[in-house]
Amino acid sequence: MTDCVFCKIISKNIPAQILYDDENILAFKDLNPVSPVHFLVVPKIHIADTDEINDKNKHLIAEIFKTIPLICRNLRISNGYRVVNNCGEKAGQTVPHIHFHVLGGRNFKWPPG
Ligand code: 5GP
Ligand code: ZN
Repeated sequence: MTDCVFCKIISKNIPAQILYDDENILAFKDLNPVSPVHFLVVPKIHIADTDEINDKNKHLIAEIFKTIPLICRNLRISNGYRVVNNCGEKAGQTVPHIHFHVLGGRNFKWPPG
């Protein structure tokens, strides 16, 4: 998608602080972090949101969740981190390319606001 900010980061047309990069997925630091560690993990193909997960692309979501612990170990936040996905406007999704926030480096409240 040419007008998608995360597709532009994936194609390296917008710079980002990249933490993990392979054939299928990319992880990069969030521009406006809400915790000492805050990065986003995205599939390299444009999937709009969690509602768009299907049998053809579900392996990418599994790969994302397999990779998150590895990145967290590198960043030394394995003792506690939160993975967040906002699906849809009402949930606070602002970028319509599926992404998983990974937050760490502080304590978190439950339930979230
Ligand atoms: P959402 O609100 O859609 O769940 O999360 C979108 C996230 O993307 C926000 O936390 C926002 O700070 C981040 N973001 C938006 N634009 C950019 C950008 O150009 N670069 C980076 N690194 N993060 C971005
Ligand atoms: Zn996209």
